[in-house]
Amino acid sequence: MADIIKLLPDHVANQIAAGEVVQRPASVVKELLENAIDAGADSIKLIIKDGGKNLIQVIDDGIGMSPTDARMGFERHATSKIQKAEDLFRLNTKGFRGEALASIAAIAHVEVQTKPEQDEMATHLRIEGSEIKFQEVCVAPKGTSMSVKNLFFNIPARRNFLKSNQVELRHITDEFHRVAMAHPNIAFNFYNNGSELFNLPKANQRQRIVHIFGSKTNEKLVPVNEETQVVKISGFINKPEFAKRSRGEQFFFVNNRFIKSPYLHHAVLAAFEGLIKSDSYPGYFLYLDVDPASIDINIHPTKTEVKFDDEHTLYAILRSTIKHSLGQFNVVPALDFDQDQNLETPYNYRDKNAVQPNVSVDRAFNPFQEVANSTKPAGTKSYKKQNTEGWENLYVGLESKVGQDEGFSSVKFESESNTGSFFESHQESLESIATTFQLRRKYIVTTIKSGMVVIDQSRAHQRVLYEQFLKNITVNEAVSQQLLFPLQLSFSKSDIDILKEIKDSLTSIGFIFSHINGEEVRITGVPPLVSESEVGMVLDQLISDFQMQVTEDSFSQTDILAKTLAKTLSVKTGEVLNNTSQLALVNDLFACKESRWSPFNKPVYVTITENDIDKKFI
Ligand code: ADP
Ligand code: MG
Repeated sequence: MADIIKLLPDHVANQIAAGEVVQRPASVVKELLENAIDAGADSIKLIIKDGGKNLIQVIDDGIGMSPTDARMGFERHATSKIQKAEDLFRLNTKGFRGEALASIAAIAHVEVQTKPEQDEMATHLRIEGSEIKFQEVCVAPKGTSMSVKNLFFNIPARRNFLKSNQVELRHITDEFHRVAMAHPNIAFNFYNNGSELFNLPKANQRQRIVHIFGSKTNEKLVPVNEETQVVKISGFINKPEFAKRSRGEQFFFVNNRFIKSPYLHHAVLAAFEGLIKSDSYPGYFLYLDVDPASIDINIHPTKTEVKFDDEHTLYAILRSTIKHSLGQFNVVPALDFDQDQNLETPYNYRDKNAVQPNVSVDRAFNPFQEVANSTKPAGTKSYKKQNTEGWENLYVGLESKVGQDEGFSSVKFESESNTGSFFESHQESLESIATTFQLRRKYIVTTIKSGMVVIDQSRAHQRVLYEQFLKNITVNEAVSQQLLFPLQLSFSKSDIDILKEIKDSLTSIGFIFSHINGEEVRITGVPPLVSESEVGMVLDQLISDFQMQVTEDSFSQTDILAKTLAKTLSVKTGEVLNNTSQLALVNDLFACKESRWSPFNKPVYVTITENDIDKKFI
C-alpha cells in the first residue's frame, strides 16, 4: 500500500491552531494586549470597530521588533519569551507559546508597524491568511502597532457564528478590564467606533479599580494585605453589605495574570460565611503573588486556569487573610442583621389583606355583570370565575394522570366543576381551621377536596410576579410610585450601556429615569412592587442577566426582564409566611395563566390525592 500520511502545510496547521486560540474578537484583544505588556509598554491603546469584527488595533510603546523578528513573530512556535523547557517554570511573561500571532494571521488580515527604540527606521508588514503580502521600511514611533482586520475572513462559518457587535464588544470589554486591572502601572486607552470608552492613567490598584468600576466603588473596598512565605496577597474585597445576588466583580490575579479558580473562590466565600446571605456573592479583587515555579499555567489552552502546587495552604491563607481584613476594618460589627433582613425582604404579600379562598364560590356569577362592575377601583383584586381556571386545569391533569398511570378509573373526584371551590374550608370555619400551612419554610400545603396540594412558595411567587410584569410590559399600563427624593445610583460605564439598552422596557414596567449618564443614574419613580431599597439590587441583577444573554441569545428583552424581576423579587425558600400571605399567594398562583410551571420551567406544585395517601396505608 502506498504511504498516505503527510505533514499538513503550515497555513492549514495554523488555521487549526487558530480554532483553539481565537474563539472570538475578544481572544485577539487578549493576545495583542498581552504581547504589548510583555514588550514592556508604558502606555497601550486599544481601538475597536464593529465589535472587533472589522478592526482590532493595539498600539504600544514597548521594545518593538527588528525587521527579521517582525516576520519571525508570525511563525508557529516562534517566541522570544522562552528558550528551553525549564523556562516554563520561571515565567514572568504573559505569552510563551509562540502561537498567537501565527494563529491570528492565519484567519485575518494583519498589519504591523514596529520599531525598536534604537533603530532609525520602522518595519511595515502585511500578512493575510498566513501569506506575507509585503514588508517595507517606514517611519513610525518607537513600539508596535498591530491591526487585525476582517477576522475569520476565510472561515465564513466562524464569522457567521459571531454574535452582535454589542455582545462581542462586551466580551472585549471584559478582557480589557482583566488586563487593565492586572496592570495598573500601565496607562490604557480604549476606543470603540471612534469614541473613547476608557481612559485609564497610570495608577495604583485601588485607583484602577475605581476608574474601571465607577467612583462609588471606592467606599465599598476593604483592603487585603498579607505576606507569607508561600504567597503575597494584596487587593480588596467588597464590604459584605454590597454582596450581590449575581456573580460579577470577582477577580483573582496570580502573578498579574487573571485566573479563574472555583477552589479559591470558595475560600473567599468561606471567609464571608455568616456575613452575607447564602445566595449572594461578595465582590473581590485579589492579587496573589507566588513563586512561578510553584504554579503551572499550562493546563488550559486559553490560560485562565492555573494549577497550584499547594492549593490547600493557599486556601487556608486566603480565607484567614480575608477574615482578618473583615475584622480589622470593623466591617463585621457594623452589620445589623435584623435590619438588613427586613430591608431586603421583598415580600409584598405581607401587606395584603387576606383574600378568603372561597370568595370564588359565586354561584350567581354572571359574566355580563363584569362590565357593570367596572366601577371597582383599579387594582382591587377580585377572584372572579375565570380566575379559577387554574384549579380546573389542575383537576384535568390529575384526572387523566391517575386514570392512566394507575389504572384507577373510579377515583372519587368530588368535583362541583362549576363552582371553582376546591378548598374545603367554608367561610364560617375559616377562622378556626387553617386551610394552608407552611412546611419547612419552603412549601405551602393546602387542601383540596380530593387531597392536598404542595406548592413551592418561591416558584409560585416567581410565576405570579412574572405574569404580572409581563402584563405590565406588554400592555404598557405601568403604574409608577413616585420617589420623594430621587435615587442616585452609580454604575460602571459598561453597566450604564446595558441600562441604556433596556431603558424602554424598564420604563414600561414603571421605572422613571430622569437621567442616565456617565456613571450615574437618577431614578424618580419605581414600580410599586419594587421597594426603594431593592432598586440597586434589581438593577444589578438585570445588568448581569443581560450580560449572560451573551451566551443565550434566544430570549426577548421583555422576557428576560420579567424573569429577572420575578427571580429577584420573589419570596425565597426559608422565609416565613404568615397565614394571610400563604392564602394570598395560593390564590394569586391559581389566577395565573399557567400556574403549573415556574418561569424557569420548574414544576410549581404537586398534588397528593387521598388515594395516594390511602395506598401508603395498605
Ligand atoms: P508569545 O507571546 O507566546 O511569545 P506571540 O505569537 O504572541 O507568542 O508573539 C510572538 C513573538 O512576537 C513574541 O514572542 C514577541 O517576541 C513578538 N511580539 C509580539 N507582539 C509584540 C509587540 N507588541 N512588541 C514587541 N514584540 C512583539
Ligand atoms: Mg503572545
